[in-house]
Amino acid sequence: MNILFLGAPGSGKGTQSKKVETEFNIPQISTGDLLRAETSSGSEMGQELKKIMASGRFVSDDIVLELVSKKIKSEECKKGFILDGFPRNLSQASSLDSLLNNIGISLEYVFLIDVPKDLILKRCVGRITCDTCGKIENEYFSNFREGDKCGDGVFVKRADDNEETVTNRLEVYAEQTQPIIDFYIEKGILHRIVGGEDGPARLTSEILSIINS
Ligand code: AMP
Repeated sequence: MNILFLGAPGSGKGTQSKKVETEFNIPQISTGDLLRAETSSGSEMGQELKKIMASGRFVSDDIVLELVSKKIKSEECKKGFILDGFPRNLSQASSLDSLLNNIGISLEYVFLIDVPKDLILKRCVGRITCDTCGKIENEYFSNFREGDKCGDGVFVKRADDNEETVTNRLEVYAEQTQPIIDFYIEKGILHRIVGGEDGPARLTSEILSIINS
């Protein structure tokens, strides 16, 4: 089962990917996470990536395609995968098509998580993540704050989750990522899931019921 989550930054596609990962035991491939791991490696490329990501711009297609291609062809993706954050423009969508064609597989479900823009901004700017277990909380919607403990870990804020960079990321999303929605509507595999203030559980149950039906 090969699944793709589309949506603006902060729409909750990472959260939903993790739920589906747990439910069906197929791995999430988050290009944001893969790139962040690269930035903490201390390499020259890592330093360059850090600058690009801090500005809210996209990393080059070649770099993300190589990371994704390696993962999709690996043993851990034999039973399927969940793409989160890739593709993000039409060129990446068409490269993904060719890659999947070459290995004789295709995407079965594309879920577009659609959340109002004012909520998106709060979700990103308030987002804090445990540096050890990856749990996500939000400073606007919970009592947790950056620096608070979470088990053995500490809640930290992503460098690109500030108002200026989030505003840039939303502009880049509207310009470059939104056009690929039509690409997947035409393929007949896109499902629009409308998110709101009521938390992730309703969305998860809508997604699971589409997959199970
Ligand atoms: P995310 O964690 O998905 O919000 O991604 C964080 C940042 O990583 C983005 O703002 C981009 O700078 C970079 N990034 C992640 N995925 C991609 C992609 N598919 N293409 C280009 N840049 C990406």
